[in-house]
Amino acid sequence: AAPVLTIDGPSGSGKGTISRLVARELGWHYLDSGALYRAIGVAAGWGDIDLADPSSLVRCAFDTDITFREEGDELLVLINGTDATAELRTETAGAAASAIAAIPEVRSALKDRQRAFRQPPGLVADGRDMGTVIFPDAAHKVFLTASAEERAERRYKQLKDKGVPVTLAGLLREILARDARDANRAVAPLKAAHDAVCIDTTGIGIDEVVRRVLATVQG
Ligand code: C5P
Repeated sequence: AAPVLTIDGPSGSGKGTISRLVARELGWHYLDSGALYRAIGVAAGWGDIDLADPSSLVRCAFDTDITFREEGDELLVLINGTDATAELRTETAGAAASAIAAIPEVRSALKDRQRAFRQPPGLVADGRDMGTVIFPDAAHKVFLTASAEERAERRYKQLKDKGVPVTLAGLLREILARDARDANRAVAPLKAAHDAVCIDTTGIGIDEVVRRVLATVQG
């Protein structure tokens, strides 16, 4: 099977940015698993599905068509053919994703879809349980962390640049709440795989993190 590099960690740890740069550097495919959960959350909203109705959410997870399309530097996400890239990045979509991600049947419904991304010459898989549940046999595993304050600041900059009205304190609160929910849920709680290399990115620039992650693959 094609080699896999898993990159797991909490929201705002820089996973997305780092994973895409590393995938480009290696010439490997890229799986943004969080986008799948977000897409189901958004699709549920479009379909007026209650986030407290597990069986409808599971059906939604099976039935929703989610396509990734590279367009220049951007990775577009299409839900049933409609570009939902911007909507997917909102905190509302993140919160919905985190809520539905706690449903075991939704997680199973997305398993095969995620594993299908494993294609030659290789895959960089970005998420929460890539190294623990989806690709436990991955040859390369990284767990990225950063202080909650730094993660809130990064998200603040990203959103402010996009003109989204947010406050740093509000984001920090949301990040801490999401961390707690992701770490304490019964299914696939966020934790590093026992064989993952942990990298704390607090105060470290993107280039240096990319270099360290690449070193886990290239030696
Ligand atoms: O990484 P991102 O912030 O896009 O993920 C959104 C939410 O989806 C996370 O808070 C988490 O609850 C869930 N998720 C997950 N497993 C993954 C990826 C994301 O449970 N592999």
